[in-house]
Amino acid sequence: MTLHGTNCYLLSGSHGPDVTLIDTGSPAPSAAPFINILGEHLRSTGNVIRTIILTHHHIDHVGGLADVLEFIKNNGAPEPSIYKFKTPASTEPAGRSVIGDDELDRLVQSQSANSQGIKWLRDGDKIPQRELDDGMPLTVMHTPGHTSDSISLF
Ligand SMILES: [Zn+2]
Repeated sequence: MTLHGTNCYLLSGSHGPDVTLIDTGSPAPSAAPFINILGEHLRSTGNVIRTIILTHHHIDHVGGLADVLEFIKNNGAPEPSIYKFKTPASTEPAGRSVIGDDELDRLVQSQSANSQGIKWLRDGDKIPQRELDDGMPLTVMHTPGHTSDSISLF
């Protein structure tokens, strides 16, 4: 399922209510229509976001993370696991179009006292996908180019 938002995907299958959100779109106020559609979908299907995977640090892919986490928290849903490839230190970005790893991790950790923060991915890691019909995990491939922290999933 593709959501209204920049390059956001919701991965679901027929095995239970768990779903995976890939990227979180732009920050507020742009996030509002996306959050509304996401909320409608989750309410109508009973699905629960258990996993969030961030593909790279551009603001139109990670900027909506705070809004998504707040939405999940306000709905009393369990805290999702959040994954991202760690930006290589030598290429840590600066500027308004990106959100750095430290800031993202602080944001995630601020959501609850029990938060373990972002789970940092490495090339070849496999992310469990209980909900998918074939039960296969998503495999992470580091694909630097668009940004130094970009990943592809298969
Ligand atoms: Zn980008």
